[in-house]
Amino acid sequence: MRILVSNDDGVHSPGILALARVAQDYGDVRVVAPDVEQSAMGHAITVRRPLHYHRTRIDGLDAYRVDGTPADAVALGAHHWDKVDLVLSGINLGLNIGHNIRHSGTVSAAMQAAFLSIPAIAFSGPSSDDPVDYGVFEPYLRQVIELFLDLDDLPLLNVNFPLQPKGLRWTRQSVRHYDGYVIPGEDPMGRTHYWFGEEPREQVETGTDRWAIEHGYVSMTPLRLDVTDDQRLERVLRTLQDR
Ligand code: MN
Repeated sequence: MRILVSNDDGVHSPGILALARVAQDYGDVRVVAPDVEQSAMGHAITVRRPLHYHRTRIDGLDAYRVDGTPADAVALGAHHWDKVDLVLSGINLGLNIGHNIRHSGTVSAAMQAAFLSIPAIAFSGPSSDDPVDYGVFEPYLRQVIELFLDLDDLPLLNVNFPLQPKGLRWTRQSVRHYDGYVIPGEDPMGRTHYWFGEEPREQVETGTDRWAIEHGYVSMTPLRLDVTDDQRLERVLRTLQDR
């Protein structure tokens, strides 16, 4: 089995090394990832300039650094490695639950694989000022990969690790509306700059990815590419029919 490993924190992130090491037990691993951090780039792709990639080594692993986005890296990696069977993205330094799924380059790398009809899993963990102990996640990482391969029915899975996992939970995405706010500041040159912040307006719902993380469980959320609101579409069509 050919496993392409990517991320959005860059090819030299400790998270991608931890993931690639575990992936090696399940097949041939090739790391193709952005050359610099591309967090919160979402599903951006590079279209106004050509892309390049260069071979590199990360701790003895076959790796390539791409001067593009996470989605670019997966597209290039899949193109240059005939028949990739599985794409693993992460492990991201920072959770990708709730609305952050939308902003996440880690999830979008996996989503790019899904567009290319390659099954994919995105992995994210908590962000921390201290070095993350990936050994704590490893048994759960293995459980998820084995479950995913065994089920053989999930095109796209989003997985998040709490700091100290105590089990796995199947979850749905926690979507909360938030109040966005902008905090102005001043840089050393005296120029005004801005930080974007957010304050959620709703409580955490049971059964969601955020609920699982807050209760110490690894969350596993199956995602899909089609974001159509089927119920509303039906309702609109019915309303128009009745007129
Ligand atoms: Mn990141």
